[in-house]
Amino acid sequence: MTKTQALVLFSGGQDSTVCLAWALARFDHVETIGFDYGQRHAAELAARPRLLSAIKAGFPQWAARLGQDHLIPLSAPRAIGGSALTDGMAIEMGRDGLPNTFVPGRNLMFLTAAAALGYRRGIADLVGGMCETDFSGYPDCRNDTVQAMASALSLGLARSVRIHTPLMYIDKAATWALAQELGGSALVDLIVEESVTCYEGDRSRRHDWGYGCGVCPACDLRAKGFQAYRTAAQS
Ligand code: ZN
Repeated sequence: MTKTQALVLFSGGQDSTVCLAWALARFDHVETIGFDYGQRHAAELAARPRLLSAIKAGFPQWAARLGQDHLIPLSAPRAIGGSALTDGMAIEMGRDGLPNTFVPGRNLMFLTAAAALGYRRGIADLVGGMCETDFSGYPDCRNDTVQAMASALSLGLARSVRIHTPLMYIDKAATWALAQELGGSALVDLIVEESVTCYEGDRSRRHDWGYGCGVCPACDLRAKGFQAYRTAAQS
């Protein structure tokens, strides 16, 4: 039987860490890709090697499957600008009904670069944390967008590209529950301790759900999701 392989879009956040565990539970060989797109805070990028080391140390059954990590520079979003994630501006709602944390085309660029790397590495299965139930309503996280990209990439590379999105229809509480299901409390604890969600990249304040400023929309969502997960787990 041929070895199954996947390439996980791995940012160092909660969602992509759960996606990585999901892939490690299913594929024989798993590689990771991250992007340095000029994000304001380097905290997420710094979390990536920390998380990978912790997974290797804490989950021997997964360590054997975990392959190369690829960090790809992508300077277009920063050069285009206009987003709170790349520029020094406060997070607020835009007139288009989207928060200004939206980086137009970001996921489309990520998927294109990941598929191109997959082409070189002989990997047809991509895994990403895109999620329709995300509060932000980013249009590039919709299932229709992601599957249209899979079709476009398969055509453009003349090779099948599949994009798996295990978090597409679940909320943050269910994402924590999925982590528990995949790797038990050890994985939940690892995600709490090492993953970065905060838009401000704050690593100085520790809450029961992990580090973060505690007030930005990403911290708020993570905190509420963790609370709901804990409440459901206790009942
Ligand atoms: Zn925050």
